[in-house]
Amino acid sequence: MHAIRDIADSVRAGTRVSPEAALELYRHAPTPLLGRLADAARARKHPDRIVTYIIDRNVNYTNVCVAKCNFCAFYRDVGSPEGYVLGFDELFKKIDETIAVGGVQLLLQGGHNPDLPLTWYEDLFRAIKARYPSFKLHALSPPEVIHLSRLSQLPVPGVLDRLIAAGMDSVPGGGAEILVDRVRKLLHCYGKATSDEWLDVMRHAHRKGLRTTATMMYGTVETDEERLEHLLRLRALQDETGGFTAFITWSYQPDHTELAGAEATGIEYLRTLAIARIVLDNFDNLQASWVTQGGKVGQLSLAFGANDMGSVMIEENVVRAAGASYCMDEAEIVRNIEDAGFTAKRRNMHYEILGGPIFREREVPRMLELATSRADGDVSVPSELRFYPARSRPGKDARAQEP
Ligand code: SF4
Repeated sequence: MHAIRDIADSVRAGTRVSPEAALELYRHAPTPLLGRLADAARARKHPDRIVTYIIDRNVNYTNVCVAKCNFCAFYRDVGSPEGYVLGFDELFKKIDETIAVGGVQLLLQGGHNPDLPLTWYEDLFRAIKARYPSFKLHALSPPEVIHLSRLSQLPVPGVLDRLIAAGMDSVPGGGAEILVDRVRKLLHCYGKATSDEWLDVMRHAHRKGLRTTATMMYGTVETDEERLEHLLRLRALQDETGGFTAFITWSYQPDHTELAGAEATGIEYLRTLAIARIVLDNFDNLQASWVTQGGKVGQLSLAFGANDMGSVMIEENVVRAAGASYCMDEAEIVRNIEDAGFTAKRRNMHYEILGGPIFREREVPRMLELATSRADGDVSVPSELRFYPARSRPGKDARAQEP
């Protein structure tokens, strides 16, 4: 306990926490103390008591994936009758609906589909920017960029250049899971991106002037030390580039996955969020993951280091496939922020304040449940897909049959 008191004093004084001290705190500090330390670290960076959120839509353009991570309930095999690719027109409609509720960007991520070449992404991004010039594309996590690099046989910087030229604005931090290769091998996600490869995509993106986020999915097979190693690797890259805008952590959602197992508790979530705020002293923003933890734990996150409620989301497919998905529209998010004693402000991906709650400025439809990528049973194939060469045998066969 004496050691914990010394470490707590040093954290309060703003000293960077060492790996050993972080592990001691994470394992043994009482939860209220961990919360108070994280809250003080949050208050040093955000003394104005403003809590932000973004109105954007979380769209998964395809669920077809060759990576087959064993913690994922979302993907479908190549050739599966449940596999889908969204058409450009479907995506435009989603953007129209997003703009109608005050949204400013798409968070666009998907499976590693061998039948979508780099040109499909370029054409999609250009088409979106032509119709919606100021709308932002927070698109393609590092493993998707690596997948496109392998598919196109271009190096990662070359893929990023082409995506940026087509309209990519920033890179979401998905696919990080735990940035320790022992864990990645056990989760069958080492092949999609090693820890170094994930970090290297972010390094290249930051050097090209893109801002990105960073994530951590905990609660599968990793140890406490490995969670901390993940945070320390992010801290080191942030020291080097300063390109991360925010960090988001959530617990593994086990339902319908090959890995199965149990979900971490709410207390473990709050402790993990708090230690992240303490360790990541060079990250300005930490988001609350209310979509996995629910509104109330999301609200409590604001006392455990979070200064941002993340996205209104509008749509969610991945967490829902694994058995959990909470819905809060803008009014509900703002109520949670204000009831906790903070001021709610809308932001963009760069954390620039766009204004107060939009529903107080004009009438917006209430959103009482999250949309899905497609209505159940909709197996339509977008007409433009025939213009893009498929790589897989089922994909080639399907395209040969298209008129
Ligand atoms: S987590 Fe992503 S990369 Fe892994 S199987 Fe699911 S969709 Fe594919």
